[in-house]
Amino acid sequence: MTDGAQAATHSGDVSQEVATHCPYCALQCGMTLRRTADRVEVLPRQFPTNRGGLCQKGWTAAELLDHPDRLTTPLVRDRPGAELRPASWPEALDRVVSGIRRIQAEHGRDAVAVFGGGGLTNEKAYTLGKFARVALGTRNIDYNGRFCMSSAAAAGIRAFGIDRGLPFPLADLGTADTLLLVGANVAETMPPLVRYLIEQRERGGTLIVIDPRATATARQATLHLQPTPGTDLAVANALLHIALAEGWVDKHYVDARTSGFEQVRRVAASYWPARVEQLSGVPVADLEAAARALGTAGRTIILTARGAEQHAKGVDTVTAFINLALALGLPGRPGSGYGCLTGQGNGQGGREHGQKADQLPGYRRIDDPAARAHVAGVWGVRPEELPGPGISAYELLTALGTPDGPKALLVFGSNPVVSAPRANRVESRLRDLDLLVVADFVRSETAAIADVVLPTAQWAEEDGTMTNLEGRVLRRRALRPPPPGVRTDLAVLAELADRLGTGSDVEPAGGGSTARVGSAGTGTGPRFPADPRVVFEELRRASAGGVADYAGISWERIDAEDGVFWPCPTEDGAGTARLFADGFPTPDGRARFLPVEHRAAAEEVCPDYPVYLTTGRVLAQYQSGAQTRRIAPLHRAAPGAFLELHPDLAARLGVLDGDEVLVTSRRGEMRAPARLTGTIRPDTVFAPFHWAGQARINSVTSDALDPVSRMPEFKVCAVRVEKA
Ligand code: SF4
Repeated sequence: MTDGAQAATHSGDVSQEVATHCPYCALQCGMTLRRTADRVEVLPRQFPTNRGGLCQKGWTAAELLDHPDRLTTPLVRDRPGAELRPASWPEALDRVVSGIRRIQAEHGRDAVAVFGGGGLTNEKAYTLGKFARVALGTRNIDYNGRFCMSSAAAAGIRAFGIDRGLPFPLADLGTADTLLLVGANVAETMPPLVRYLIEQRERGGTLIVIDPRATATARQATLHLQPTPGTDLAVANALLHIALAEGWVDKHYVDARTSGFEQVRRVAASYWPARVEQLSGVPVADLEAAARALGTAGRTIILTARGAEQHAKGVDTVTAFINLALALGLPGRPGSGYGCLTGQGNGQGGREHGQKADQLPGYRRIDDPAARAHVAGVWGVRPEELPGPGISAYELLTALGTPDGPKALLVFGSNPVVSAPRANRVESRLRDLDLLVVADFVRSETAAIADVVLPTAQWAEEDGTMTNLEGRVLRRRALRPPPPGVRTDLAVLAELADRLGTGSDVEPAGGGSTARVGSAGTGTGPRFPADPRVVFEELRRASAGGVADYAGISWERIDAEDGVFWPCPTEDGAGTARLFADGFPTPDGRARFLPVEHRAAAEEVCPDYPVYLTTGRVLAQYQSGAQTRRIAPLHRAAPGAFLELHPDLAARLGVLDGDEVLVTSRRGEMRAPARLTGTIRPDTVFAPFHWAGQARINSVTSDALDPVSRMPEFKVCAVRVEKA
């Protein structure tokens, strides 16, 4: 079955089926949804990323559609401390709009903020950004993708002039002679991707994994480097040091296609292997073996993921691996390259179309006058009406309710009470708000403390597009309409915009915005359409000429071509599956080396907090767990949090397997059963971040931010562990 539209009526107990994609991660596995008399079935579907495979999360995704926890009516809280109670849509929306009006009248437009998510479709991400800038007139919008891939995005832009997770199709992985994975546990996060690793090794390839834990992925590797958390950058510089010393640098490529190599060469000179062994704990012999495999292979691919990124030096760490890739002449060479494995389902598209604080659709900068003029023209406003850049996700969340910070927040597709770093502080800021509005389909931990909860549609109930980790734009298709009482996010935004007086291009009564210069580019229809196909057509115009140019992509093309890779500026031209073959989208067409130095983590171990903590995911749960914790087979497979620690460390602490332990950092604490394993370093403990309450590890994690990407340092902080 292709990716084409497959809605079909059948006889017997099968009433309809549709070809779509998994609602969860960025692999966006192809699946068929089939409606029977009493349930919705998931069937795996051949698609280039999953080749017919699904993980447990995908298989069980439909169980949430008719789950008893499903929200089907709006909820409102009458006063602080009162319980949420059911309300009608008009009452709930009145509460939202009157609250927005009152707060903006008292405190200004920026007093209302918006928080989005990397799982929202392109149409929703685009509309959310437009809603914030046009309907609310606020600069304060950001999204949870800031916690997910912003460091690789920033590193990619400064080196290559563009941020697309993989600049080549995923299938290239299977043909690499050497494949290096840095901080990527795909065996648990994206299991169907493992078949490419198997294919690669069956062809005689070498798989190298850099990870502080001997994860399920690392255990499949030819070579596993197990550095101290926070030292990947030094390891990358050491690999470059060895490549230079051994003459494996591609001098012709460096001269012809890059700039800035000399400074990087000088920095790498000081990362001799013995020094880096001391810094990272990775033996010299392993560094040399890894460098040899990378430097002498025909086809080499280097991939980074959250393990490299979620640090206060995440941008520099990714840059160090890009420097290595450039020195070896990989980007743009067929079958080789550097890429980043995006995490969330629409982590890629979600950061291209304007829900990021500094961004307009098409990956345009909001402080670029030409970009503002273009997008303002499509939106039917004047460029000077568009607000400027806002602040990043964590800074926004911790500014909430403070004297100068936003007093209201609208949350779509996110659960920051569980997923934000230093989550106890974030939760307290959210509770301080005058108005917290959450659109969700279950009562997430964030919805549970909201003033207004708006029940919204799930993935199988609405159409739209997603952009997967390859930069391939896909079609998500509705199997059925939302249940009675439930609305789509687009319908909610359209109605809110209407009620705020900005839903059409007619001058709102009583002023508000200034005179209009057009109407969403067409002169017809509402300014905020609820129909995703209409939104996508507008997105195409808004992105035209931008870095992430979707102008040539139509839903029909996506159906016909198994997805279309951006940039795709014209309808008659092909999408761009492989980037950098002829040059880089930088002013001089060259990729840029940037010298980067190792520096300590924001918080190093000390006598009071003597152990490193690192965090991550488990196979059967996804992100904040609001969805997957409610799915019975996933709950059975992974019922709760745990703390993974080495038997040597456990013996020193007097902790036995299964003992309840208390993990304490300078910010908070978490409790969970101990899980003893020899696969982790004795100086490091690991906890998954999918659980709430006492098991919320983000009560403990560090809120140190990368100075460029503003990504938090989830992957390393100093903790104390004791038997509870
Ligand atoms: Fe595929 Fe990811 Fe869904 Fe698993 S969660 S089925 S890997 S898209």
